[in-house]
Amino acid sequence: MKINIPIDGPSAAGKSSISDMLAQRLGYTHLDTGAMYRAVALNAIRKGIALDDEEKIVDMISNMKLQMLPDGRVILEDEDVSEEIRTNEISMGASDVSKLQGCREALVKMQQNICKEGGYILDGRDIGTVVLKDAPVKIYMVASAEARAQRRVLQNQNQGLEADYEQILEDIKKRDYQDMHREHSPLTKAEDAIEIDTSDMTKDEVCDAVMKIVLEKTGD
Ligand code: C5P
Repeated sequence: MKINIPIDGPSAAGKSSISDMLAQRLGYTHLDTGAMYRAVALNAIRKGIALDDEEKIVDMISNMKLQMLPDGRVILEDEDVSEEIRTNEISMGASDVSKLQGCREALVKMQQNICKEGGYILDGRDIGTVVLKDAPVKIYMVASAEARAQRRVLQNQNQGLEADYEQILEDIKKRDYQDMHREHSPLTKAEDAIEIDTSDMTKDEVCDAVMKIVLEKTGD
């Protein structure tokens, strides 16, 4: 039977690329929940809605057409916004809208609905603590802020995006603080999650470590 696997942790800890690798190995689908908060922020900015206006944002979400394709593409109102949601502005914007309880409730429902048949790897901040509280295996991925900033620099360079190390490090620290100290569903490790520090590990090593945990827990 296919289960759902939560992978939580701070930004740029490697959750997304490991989720992709793992999904391929297990024949699962990766759902990037951060991309959903990013799409909400982009849509709000496009519509001129303040990112702290909970009522308008909740109303906007209920009328918003958002498709999370199995191949990872994010389609907002029939437009592929997969690249546009990756800028620094949208990263901070996503962190802003994710503070709003109403926004979280709406997106959590969508996420639970998408993965209800099983076979998904969800990466985010509240998957093990809220979205999939009863999951049999939970992973919490961490890495030092410096290692994460360095990875983001390389990633951005490859995608032709801004890649100023100091700026990225500052943004990562700011977003960590905001995500860990917000009132609703702050980023924390679920009690039953297994923590992996990826600072000095290659992607293959992390993927092997997660696979081992998953296979041990599911007994496959
Ligand atoms: O994972 P990513 O960096 O793309 O997420 C963008 C922002 O969305 C995070 O900084 C966080 O504030 C928010 N988020 C969240 N809950 C999730 C996923 C992302 O609050 N499950």
